Amino acid sequence: MSDFIKLADLLLPNIDKEPEFYENKYPRRDLKDGARVTRVAPSPTGYLHLGTLFVSLVNRLVADSTGGIFFTRIEDTDKKREVEGGIADIIGGIKRFGIAIDEGYIESDVESGSYGPYKQSERAEIYQCYAKSLIKQGLAYPCFCTEEDLAKAREKQEAQKIRTGYHGEWAKHRDITYEEAKALIDEGKPFVVRLRSPGNEENKVIFEDGIKGKIEMPENDEDFVILKSDGIPTYHFAHAVDDHLMGTTHVIRGDEWISSTPKHLQLFKLLGFKAPKYVHVSPIMKLDNGAKRKISKRKDPEAAVHFFAEQGYPTESVIEYLMTIAASDFEDWRRTNPTADYKTFKFNIKKMSSSGALFDTDKLNDVSKTVISKMSSDEVILRLFDWSKEFDKEFYDILSADKDYAKAVFSIDRDVPKPRKDIIKWSDAKQYSEYLFDSLFVPNFQLPEKINKADAVTILSEYKKVYDETQDNQAWFETIKSICPAANFATDTKEYKANPEKYAGSPGDASTLIRIAITGRTNTPDLCSIMKLLGRERAIKRIDAAIAYYKAN
Ligand code: GLU
Repeated sequence: MSDFIKLADLLLPNIDKEPEFYENKYPRRDLKDGARVTRVAPSPTGYLHLGTLFVSLVNRLVADSTGGIFFTRIEDTDKKREVEGGIADIIGGIKRFGIAIDEGYIESDVESGSYGPYKQSERAEIYQCYAKSLIKQGLAYPCFCTEEDLAKAREKQEAQKIRTGYHGEWAKHRDITYEEAKALIDEGKPFVVRLRSPGNEENKVIFEDGIKGKIEMPENDEDFVILKSDGIPTYHFAHAVDDHLMGTTHVIRGDEWISSTPKHLQLFKLLGFKAPKYVHVSPIMKLDNGAKRKISKRKDPEAAVHFFAEQGYPTESVIEYLMTIAASDFEDWRRTNPTADYKTFKFNIKKMSSSGALFDTDKLNDVSKTVISKMSSDEVILRLFDWSKEFDKEFYDILSADKDYAKAVFSIDRDVPKPRKDIIKWSDAKQYSEYLFDSLFVPNFQLPEKINKADAVTILSEYKKVYDETQDNQAWFETIKSICPAANFATDTKEYKANPEKYAGSPGDASTLIRIAITGRTNTPDLCSIMKLLGRERAIKRIDAAIAYYKAN
């Protein structure tokens, strides 16, 4: 028996399967020509991040554009950093945003598909089998260096201005013999398994990235760790084994992985696997003191997808916005297809920007306003109930007290050919509608410039006399004109503009006085609809309160 085989049995005695076992267990996928298999592989070390949502969307689009498959895999090899509820938040979030998952974790606790388990912590034997095979071929070996040994080596390298890392003559255990390893294991010394890299820093590795084009980097010559001392793989090794066995054709991931790609290509080669196509997505950026930086979980609230739910951005708005980042031709398409499902847009990965897009709140808000304006009032009220139930209990209770009334409030200027674009997110809805609910209404008696209190009292008192809630807009404005002379307001706007010094105000000023008295605002949706909704009694009460205020102050 060769020393390598003896070494492999010594290091991984419990592994009795050969890679062929898994190659047969997970046969190659039977796909139509050109179908792409993509995946998102989140680590549950936190909650759903905007970047993960974005990468999931891109993966889904690429699979869809070719009739392929998009699956999820949970990369939970770092148990120390795992957060409780992380998987549920990430998988649940991806689905909530309408990104369908074909395979893998389709729910936080449901796996589907023939290539599982789809959670790395349940695949330890598979990785160990492939690692054992590399050891048998002399392509991997045990390393017994402690953290201190490695730190010392690093210090020396730094002092000598040598590239740090476990490579070349610095790869201390690269030529360890079976006997040496056995003696250390008998002493109970822990070890990791490292790749015996055949690479040379002087050589170039070239690959064609799906977004960034041709990338040229030095070959990997580092004997990097493939199995940690607890037998759990590093990301690099798990990536190669999993994406091979799971039949991933396109690895679409964050571009922070570009620097590791030479390692990955080397692994695929040494393991005898066909390498996938790599597609590195640029991160979403923020401007920070004039400098662009990657959006950060620590610094930016919008980095956590939960922020959008809390603020009450519809999931469609966030996706629609992310589409504008994903595809430079999406906005043009949207203009010509204003109501089409974004999923019918022909996505082309080549149109993705190779530098990071700036997160643009104004644009998101703009997109979201349009998305909400296109919703029916039924939809709006349904969403608003859902959102407020979770995030604004006070408002939820107010809305629930009279559901028909609440629905009527959010029907104003909606369900019409040109709906009003006013609500950006559900958390705006309260402020937007507060004057329509007595418990939220805050009177405001600020007069338009030039209009005095006495005239305001006259106009409002006259208006009370002719108040008619059944009037339409046009009839209403005629009524306003008819009361203007009582306070020496012009009855004609043009006439007022021509002779401003002659009049105390215009019909526009009179209507503003009335609007402020009834709603507390100078700008609202259609006042006639508002008055109908409030009903005579409430409207008159508010007018009376305004009259009393102007008289007293
Ligand atoms: N678990 C890795 C991450 O969260 C996955 C990267 C990949 O898609 O391969 O960054």
